[in-house]
Amino acid sequence: MLPPPDWRPHAPLEPLHFDWLSRAGVEVAVLRLDRIDPLISGNKWFKLNEHIVAARQVGAEGLISLGGAHSNHLHALAAAGKRFGFATVGLLRGHPLDTPTVLDLQAFGMELHWLGYEGYRKRHQADFWTPWQARYPRLHAVPEGGGGLAGARGCRGLVAMVEAQLPALGWDDFQGWWLAAGTGTTAAGLVLAEAGQRAVHAALAVPDDHGVAPSMRNILVEAGVADSGYELIEACRGGFAKVDPELLAFIADSEQQGGLPLEPLYTGKALLALREQVTAGCFGMGTRWVFVHTGGLQGRRGFAL
Ligand SMILES: *Cc1c(COP(=O)(O)O)cnc(C)c1O
Repeated sequence: MLPPPDWRPHAPLEPLHFDWLSRAGVEVAVLRLDRIDPLISGNKWFKLNEHIVAARQVGAEGLISLGGAHSNHLHALAAAGKRFGFATVGLLRGHPLDTPTVLDLQAFGMELHWLGYEGYRKRHQADFWTPWQARYPRLHAVPEGGGGLAGARGCRGLVAMVEAQLPALGWDDFQGWWLAAGTGTTAAGLVLAEAGQRAVHAALAVPDDHGVAPSMRNILVEAGVADSGYELIEACRGGFAKVDPELLAFIADSEQQGGLPLEPLYTGKALLALREQVTAGCFGMGTRWVFVHTGGLQGRRGFAL
């Protein structure tokens, strides 16, 4: 069965305690999307929301999607399938590999097909889904990563989720958001929900030429809203999934001092970019910000952290 329409996962909002924040007089709370559920984790669940609604509308019995051997997207989809008991199929890039992620996908009951590199490159062709839809007529297809306007719309609820928790934190409001961006879909969802109110800072986990700016613009244009209210921050430190000693030390420190687990691809780089701006005095004393922990911790098993 697909998840019930009223299943709304909850992510706790917690104050962050780091010396670099207290020195600057800046307050940051973290929205723990890594803790929405014992099985399902991260922003990928929210990006799947509208696709699950669409699947329910067409009476599908499960979902089929694509990703790599470390994919947080496939991991969230397979976990949801296990959690709610619906069928999932994953089409994987490359050749069979036993990564920790792939072992989880199998343990969650996802049926896997390895497409090779050549086969995976064809995913944008018009007839790509035809044979898969013939083979799995009861499954609803979700594009790679769950991006686009549908993905962004599923993330709009994060704003209300934070607002509902402000009183418990003793905050009346906050200035804006800071989060990691890979395609910018999650950040675009926040921009949609904020409608020009609070600022959204998207820390890029990928280089400039990965097209985050045009894909965010496309989402906002398709939604019929202004292409504004957000800022892209270079944060990839030399490339997607490139790791350096300063980053690893920062991640270890954040876990030891602040009790915050991070991974090196997205959340570690995003929080380190935030520290750089806070330390450089880019944020006023007494300002308050929300950092979105987008999850991805399942992927850090490959990094021996
Ligand atoms: C996929 C992912 C992101 C990027 O999300 P986008 O919506 O593509 O920008 C950020 N953090 C983690 C942990 C992710 O898995």
